[in-house]
Amino acid sequence: MFESLSERLSGVFDKLTRQGALTEADVSAALREVRVALLEADVSLPVARDFIRQVQAKAAGQAVTRSVTPGQQVVKIVHDELVAMLAGDEGEIGALRIDSPPAPVLMVGLQGSGKTTTTAKLARRLKEKDCKKVLMASLDTRRPAAMEQLAVLGAQIGVDVLPIVPGETPVQIARRARQQAMLGGYDVYLLDTAGRLSIDDELMAEVAAVRDEVKPRETLLVVDGLTGQDAVHTAENFDRRIGVTGVVLTRMDGDGRGGAALSMRAVTGKPIKFVGLGEKMDALEEFHPERVAGRILG
Ligand code: GDP
Repeated sequence: MFESLSERLSGVFDKLTRQGALTEADVSAALREVRVALLEADVSLPVARDFIRQVQAKAAGQAVTRSVTPGQQVVKIVHDELVAMLAGDEGEIGALRIDSPPAPVLMVGLQGSGKTTTTAKLARRLKEKDCKKVLMASLDTRRPAAMEQLAVLGAQIGVDVLPIVPGETPVQIARRARQQAMLGGYDVYLLDTAGRLSIDDELMAEVAAVRDEVKPRETLLVVDGLTGQDAVHTAENFDRRIGVTGVVLTRMDGDGRGGAALSMRAVTGKPIKFVGLGEKMDALEEFHPERVAGRILG
C-alpha cells in the first residue's frame, strides 16, 4: 500500500547510510528528498513540513553528524516520527470501545466509500475474532438496494441483520435495532447509515438524529483511501458535524499513494482504526502505526 513511497525513501536512505560521515548539508539534502517523497504520496503540505521540521530538530539535538552511524540514526529518527505522525499522542491504537452491551456502533461515510462492505467485514471480525454476538441494521431508507446488500452480506458471513420494514425513518430503524439488540442479548449492533455522493446538510442532519437517538460508543467514518487529501477533508467535515471516534480507510489494496493514511491523524486528530484491503469479507486489518512505519521504511 505504500510501495512507491517506500521505494523513494529507501533510495534516499541507502545513499545516506552508505556514506560513512555526514555533514549537516547531507542530512538537509536527504530530508528535502523525504519531503518531496511525502508530497508525492499526497501527504498535505503542512503535515510534510512539520514532519521534516521535527526530524531536523531531533537530528540536530542528537548531533547525528558526530555519531558513529549517522545514516542509521537519521533513519531511526524518521521511523519514530512516522509512528508519532500515524499514532498521535496515544501510541498504539487500541481496539473498539464496545463494552457495556449492547454497544451501538455508527458507520458513517459517503456513498461508494465502502461503508456497507466495511460494516459487514467489521461484523464478521467481531464475531470470529472477538466472539461477539453482532447485529447489523441498514438505515439507508432511500436506497433499498443498499439494505438488500447488507442482508445478503449478513447471510454470507452468518451475522444477523435487522429485518427491513418499509416506511420507517432511520431513527425508527435505529430504535428497533437497539430493542432487538437488547432483547436478543447482542454484544454490539452496527448501524450502516445512508451515504450520499457528497456531504450535504440533509445527510448530516439525518446521521446526527440517529447519533442523538442511540448515543454510539464508536462512530466510525469509512473513507476511500485512494482519494488522498480528499479523504482527510471528508473526515474533518464529518468530525465537525457528527463527531467521529475513528476512521476506516478502504481500498488500501489499490495503488493509492498512502497520503490519506499518513496525514489523517495529524490533520484530524482521529485515529485510523482499520484499513480495508480488498472486496472479500476477510480483507480488513487493524491499523498499527508501528507496523505501517516499518512497512514504509522497509
Ligand atoms: P458504500 O456505498 O459506501 O456502502 O460502498 P460499498 O460497501 O457498496 O462498496 C463499494 C464498492 O467498493 C464495492 O464494490 C466493494 O466491494 C468495494 N470495496 C469496499 N471496500 C474495499 C476495499 O477495501 N478494497 C477494494 N478493492 N474494494 C473495496
